[in-house]
Amino acid sequence: MLITGGAGFLGSHLCERLLNDGCDVLCVDNFYSGTRDNVAHLLSNPRFELLRHDVTFPLYVETDEIYNLACPASPIHYQRDPVQTTKTSVHGAINMLGLAKRTKAKILQASTSEVYGDPEIHPQREGYWGHVNPIGIRSCYDEGKRCAETLFFDYHRQHQLEIKVVRIFNTYGPRMHPNDGRVVSNFIVQALCGENITIYGDGSQTRSFCYVDDLIDGFVRMMASPFDLTGPINMGNPVEITIKELAETVLKMVGGPSKLIFQALPQDDPKQRQPDITLAHETLGWQPNIKLEQGLEKTVAYFRARLEI
Ligand code: NAD
Ligand code: UDP
Ligand code: UDP
Repeated sequence: MLITGGAGFLGSHLCERLLNDGCDVLCVDNFYSGTRDNVAHLLSNPRFELLRHDVTFPLYVETDEIYNLACPASPIHYQRDPVQTTKTSVHGAINMLGLAKRTKAKILQASTSEVYGDPEIHPQREGYWGHVNPIGIRSCYDEGKRCAETLFFDYHRQHQLEIKVVRIFNTYGPRMHPNDGRVVSNFIVQALCGENITIYGDGSQTRSFCYVDDLIDGFVRMMASPFDLTGPINMGNPVEITIKELAETVLKMVGGPSKLIFQALPQDDPKQRQPDITLAHETLGWQPNIKLEQGLEKTVAYFRARLEI
């Protein structure tokens, strides 16, 4: 199994899961937003191999299955070098699809709910084409991922590749980067450090948060599904909450002196987001099982240990 972006948050959990299932795992990462630390505990496993490589360059290895996760996922990271972000999604997809074509490997793409942009349809179903700004500060990520989906479907139609396109909705858990600016890690770290909790806008925007283990289980099921099940398929937790409610939940759980403070809403910040997961449920028998409070407890425990608080 080849996992690109394998030293990132989701990738490291996927490496772990596949090793536990008895697979040989090749983890490829350029450490743009991931770290060796995320996979340090796997390095002694003889079935695990770590390769520093940037997927915008060709890669010649042998593999049966490719999970293509390489791409910075948090706005702070993907906006730091937006040209590289688009290259990673587009050139990275071309190279990994070329590799899949040569090796006849199955290939799964970690796509995103961002392909729906600031959605006008709620909840979002796979048939919705999205409402995306092509020239804004999120576009390097959103349009890069949309183009990658196009490439996946063209390689499927033109070269009969076995493809699996998963549209991931906000996922959280241990090994998120403490400074990557995503809301769950930000709120937990702020609460643990006794700093004020930064709500962007009035906090009425919504998201739906999935715990990492549930998502990884969905990836593995999707990879094992029949040839015809290409996706795109939504994966996420349909329980939707406002960002203000999330802040209150985290603060209640962690305790401490932090207060909620309100700051400017970033440009193009989606107002609402909730996956319709009927397709995943009907075709894969998949649905998330871990409730937000349970997942947050595990994530708080991780950050507490990491920050030594
Ligand atoms: P992450 O930033 O922790 O992981 C991404 C990994 O890709 C990092 O280890 C990074 O170093 C690596 N990478 C970036 N550019 C690369 C390149 N050019 N070559 C090789 N490696 C490269 O983020 P994550 O949350 O684990 O996201 C993993 C994938 O899932 C991404 O493709 C992301 O777009 C997608 N996704 C995640 C979420 C979420 O909520 N976590 C939601 C939607 C989509
Ligand atoms: N590629 C790769 N590893 C492989 C095979 C191909 O990285 O094992 C890259 C190669 O650099 C190429 C891209 O994937 O540019 C697309 O490959 P494809 O065979 O589709 O196109 P072509 O080689 O005709 O450009
Ligand atoms: N957000 C916030 N405070 C923070 C970080 C994020 O209020 O410290 C908001 C952000 O504006 C967005 C939501 O939380 O409305 C989710 O942000 P994140 O970056 O985690 O993911 P995305 O916007 O890509 O869904």
